[in-house]
Amino acid sequence: MQVLKFGGSSVGTTTAISKVIAIVKARVQTTPSIVVVSAMSGVTDQLILLGQTAAQGNAAYPTMIQSFAQKHEDAVLALLPTAQQASALSMVKGLIQEIESHCAIIFKEKELTLRMQDCLMSYGEILSSKIIAAAFDAEGVDQVWLDSRWMIKTNSAYSNAVLDKALTNQSIQQYFANPSNQHALYIAPGFIASDAAGHTTTLGRGGSDYSGAIYAAAINASVLEIWTDVSGMMTADPRIVNNAKEIPRISYHEAMELSHFGAKIIYPPTILPVMQANIPLWIKNTFEPE
Ligand code: ADP
Ligand code: ASP
Ligand code: MG
Repeated sequence: MQVLKFGGSSVGTTTAISKVIAIVKARVQTTPSIVVVSAMSGVTDQLILLGQTAAQGNAAYPTMIQSFAQKHEDAVLALLPTAQQASALSMVKGLIQEIESHCAIIFKEKELTLRMQDCLMSYGEILSSKIIAAAFDAEGVDQVWLDSRWMIKTNSAYSNAVLDKALTNQSIQQYFANPSNQHALYIAPGFIASDAAGHTTTLGRGGSDYSGAIYAAAINASVLEIWTDVSGMMTADPRIVNNAKEIPRISYHEAMELSHFGAKIIYPPTILPVMQANIPLWIKNTFEPE
């Protein structure tokens, strides 16, 4: 099996999601895949702001939910043929209603705990992954949606939870050992997990990369690919340094160092699990897949 993770910009627009679908469709023909996805770009920040607005007792928060809902409904309308839109739209509506009831509590209590913030943030990845799963269905690609909250277990350090590696490996391995779980394509939300009490946790900002690595290490994947908006790790952030160069090949250790020194291209904890399992890690560009 292989693990392909697509970041926020790769799922940020319907044009980008269509590229993701084309990339994955070609790849699942040869190798069964777990596809881990981020929230649509900007969505996690919007969810935090939404929670903060409700906690301030600011009655503007329902308008924010409306535009948030619209963004995801628009994605459904653009990605799915008319016949499949109704069920996907009602799935989105159901999740938006959950967000509304969480926000009503935050508004009433005038408090946004980190636990509640994790719960709110999780909707970004849940929505994007479910919409993308529906888009694969519409394309006639057999897929199964994996709930990363059940698969990935952490402690209760909300917003930056620490992985329970033993429990996580056990649950992922048990799941895939089941003969009925041998599909060609699994779609999983990145970033989210749960603690022993079953409360939603998150793996730290940028944590979907880490989710990809966690799945990859647990199933001993043949490869982990991080699909983003640049063609590989570079000598510096190309948004800041004009003449940054692509690094064709880099050791796990050096990549880890670069990421710890702030190279946003990869979330630092991502590298260790794949390094320990000797799984090759590729950084790929969704917008220049070749
Ligand atoms: P994603 O949403 O796919 O996770 P991120 O925005 O987290 O993507 O990471 C990709 C961005 O990382 C690039 O657009 C680039 O601007 C930035 N970046 C920072 N440092 C580096 C680096 N050393 N090499 C490549 N990209 C880098
Ligand atoms: N959506 C989360 C974030 O913005 C996780 C990720 O994109 O990797 O931090
Ligand atoms: Mg990232």
